Amino acid sequence: MSKDKVTNVVIVGGGTAGWISAALLAKILGKAVKITLIESEKIGIVGVGEATIPPMINFNNALGINENDFLKATKATIKLGIQFENWKELGSSYMHAFGGVGKNFPFCDFHHFWVKSQQLGIASDFWDFSVNYQAATQNKFGKMPNLEGTNIPGITYAYHFDAGLYAKFLREYSEAKGVERIEGIIEDVELDNKTGNVKTLTLDNQQKVVGDVFIDCSGMRGILIEKALNTGYEDWSHWLPCDRAMAMPTTSTTPIKPFTRSIAHEAGWQWQIPLQHRTGNGIVYSSRYLDDESAKKILLANVDGEPLAEPKVIPFQTGRRRKQWNKNVVAIGLSSGFLEPLESTSIHLIQTAVIRLIKHFPHQGIKEEEINEFNRQSKIEIEKIRDFIILHYKLNQRGDSPFWRECQRMDIPESLATKMALFKSSGKVFRDYDDLFTEIAWQQVMIGQGLVPNDTHPLSDQLTKDQLEELFDNLKVLIQRSVDKLPTHEAFLNKI
Ligand SMILES: Cc1cc2nc3c(=O)[nH]c(=O)nc-3n(C[C@H](O)[C@H](O)[C@H](O)COP(=O)(O)OP(=O)(O)OC[C@H]3O[C@@H](n4cnc5c(N)ncnc54)[C@H](O)[C@@H]3O)c2cc1C
Repeated sequence: MSKDKVTNVVIVGGGTAGWISAALLAKILGKAVKITLIESEKIGIVGVGEATIPPMINFNNALGINENDFLKATKATIKLGIQFENWKELGSSYMHAFGGVGKNFPFCDFHHFWVKSQQLGIASDFWDFSVNYQAATQNKFGKMPNLEGTNIPGITYAYHFDAGLYAKFLREYSEAKGVERIEGIIEDVELDNKTGNVKTLTLDNQQKVVGDVFIDCSGMRGILIEKALNTGYEDWSHWLPCDRAMAMPTTSTTPIKPFTRSIAHEAGWQWQIPLQHRTGNGIVYSSRYLDDESAKKILLANVDGEPLAEPKVIPFQTGRRRKQWNKNVVAIGLSSGFLEPLESTSIHLIQTAVIRLIKHFPHQGIKEEEINEFNRQSKIEIEKIRDFIILHYKLNQRGDSPFWRECQRMDIPESLATKMALFKSSGKVFRDYDDLFTEIAWQQVMIGQGLVPNDTHPLSDQLTKDQLEELFDNLKVLIQRSVDKLPTHEAFLNKI
């Protein structure tokens, strides 16, 4: 495609995607390439995107960021999982808690024993055996790699943080590593006549910026990947019917919960993300079933603190860009596609995209084979996350509104239907290669939404009813003893 060496990388956009890309590229490739980032304060950033998942810790470690510095600078709190309220049916609640549940046996996951116990009439809740769930609902947090005196994994966590402060934090980090920032609005994009590659960007002050590779982090505008290159978009709204969000911060309330709340309403759901200095709130809904005014009423009626700003409407289209890498443009962040924030996966997808780009980095020139492989991997990754999100909608048992009834009836991707059928018939669920979500994540959402297996693994028959009861009692005591030793979430935050 292009035999020219790549030494000049231009990032368009300075939101979470732009600065994450700048930071990791500068850290890993900073000596080999020049990195420039263009952003416009007049346009601003989307400003939402405040809940993360555990791999974020590895990403920060890769950047060499000190955790306490990060927590302080971004006013972050701890996230131990997502509580889904009213999702299965009105009044129901379960958690997708990070980390494990119970104790897996060789060849047989714990949930088989739990399902067996239900069949035998032993009373217990699946989340009695999740240390994350127990800590979250008791407002506790501390570092605990294993349950006390055992090799059973302990607490697994992620963060909630202020998106604006995070971009600022990474900007300082990136500039210290040599990234050049240009303030301005890109008004024109010139393509090379022969190759069709992006060649020159012209800013509102007539400054011209050239590059070898451009990273489009311009948000939903997609000014290079779509407006300039017409890459195309695969729409997934027939599977994920919400198409609007309305976000509004409120004052903090105490105790500051160490988990995200996702509360289903008549035509979508609402989030509550507690930060140190405020709570992030928002409502995600389908405009076919709810207008903005009604969405605003639901949002305002269901926040705990005092509003700090007017609700901001954010329309979106669920789906993915047909090619995440097209010509010499790689789309990262909202420009590459969008999955609603139900499982807080967008920032993670930004991080994996930058890591993938570094692995495929075209030092010696851009090759079609490399682009194809990058796009193949990106497609698989986002499709697996898409399936996991659809699962929550499909498995609802709410008959109280047309929105939820439509979700029950909708056709789903074959890949998801197969996974659900296997779990229902046998209790088995397997993590595919490249699937972000582990077996235990799938188990929690399937069980939480009411999909309980008809059968269990034969190894679960090896324990008698008495032995199962003893095992469960011991696990509960062990988990509670470990949680008792943890400080409160607020005490942990106060210490940093
Ligand atoms: C309602 C909602 C809730 C979300 N919640 C979560 C969550 O909890 N967890 C999660 O992981 N993700 C979440 N996300 C996704 C997350 O917000 C985004 O992935 C993240 O903010 C990245 O955005 P971005 O940087 O791609 O775009 P933006 O923040 O929109 O940044 C775009 C940048 O491009 C610049 N720009 C645009 N056009 C031009 C131009 N012509 N010239 C110069 N500069 C330009 C802008 O100035 C800006 O700097 C959510 C998204 C939405 C919509």
